[in-house]
Amino acid sequence: MSGTVVFVHAHPDDEALLTGGTIALLAASGRRVVLVTATDGAEGLASEDVASGSTLARIRSEELAEAAASLGVARSVQLGYPDSGLDGDADCSAIDGAEFPFARTPVSEVADRLVAILREERASVVVGYDRNGGYRHPDHLQVHRVTKRAARIAGTPVYLEATLPREPLVWAVSIAYRVRWLVPQLGGLDPEVWRNSFTPRSEITDAVDVRPFVAVKRAALRAHSSQVTADEGLRTIDVLLRLPDFVFARLMGTEWYVRAAQGAPAVGVGGSPLNIDGPS
Ligand SMILES: [Zn+2]
Repeated sequence: MSGTVVFVHAHPDDEALLTGGTIALLAASGRRVVLVTATDGAEGLASEDVASGSTLARIRSEELAEAAASLGVARSVQLGYPDSGLDGDADCSAIDGAEFPFARTPVSEVADRLVAILREERASVVVGYDRNGGYRHPDHLQVHRVTKRAARIAGTPVYLEATLPREPLVWAVSIAYRVRWLVPQLGGLDPEVWRNSFTPRSEITDAVDVRPFVAVKRAALRAHSSQVTADEGLRTIDVLLRLPDFVFARLMGTEWYVRAAQGAPAVGVGGSPLNIDGPS
């Protein structure tokens, strides 16, 4: 099977962080890749020197276009919902016509828009997020709900959920938590939250080797430069971009997916090749 692969993401930069290597791999092999980004990212952390509110939304949209181009995305669609922020209740009065932030927009409304894209593209694969919305950001949980629903309604043959293996994350967070007095920026990390985040390794069905594409992934991350600086807090992208190449490749050289039941059965855990089309 061939055909379009549609990736659904919450904020500009999630496409590069979680699935950048897979997008680049698919595009390089001639597959049409469509990227759907739900929010404008206006609640993203950024230094006040960079921007805030609507200016930040415009900057993030330009950064997204640059990242998408570097990954080989054929079409990028921004649904334009207001970013909900980490507490899920951001003020969206500055955005014309926006009643609710993305996380509180009715699931059926967003799913209908996705269904239209999946049908128009005759998508053979759609990728959303795992049931924990990764690290439980309200917008990521909403991506899980709307993509799962849209895949079912559109009858898309393969539905995948992008994720990370939980165990190494919990381990890293507990270490960071123990040394939080050394690095004040780590103060917000709560190991309990991470114990319910992402996906246990045993439930991950597809581990995609994207090592040949880590340089492209790194370039896509670099395109999101407004997210590299922040007045407070630890910036994931900043930390990743500071890593030496070989460490970056080690951390970012595999991307992980859960294949939901409607698709093919599990294809193996840890290092299985990307079998994105299921059995032929
Ligand atoms: Zn996000």
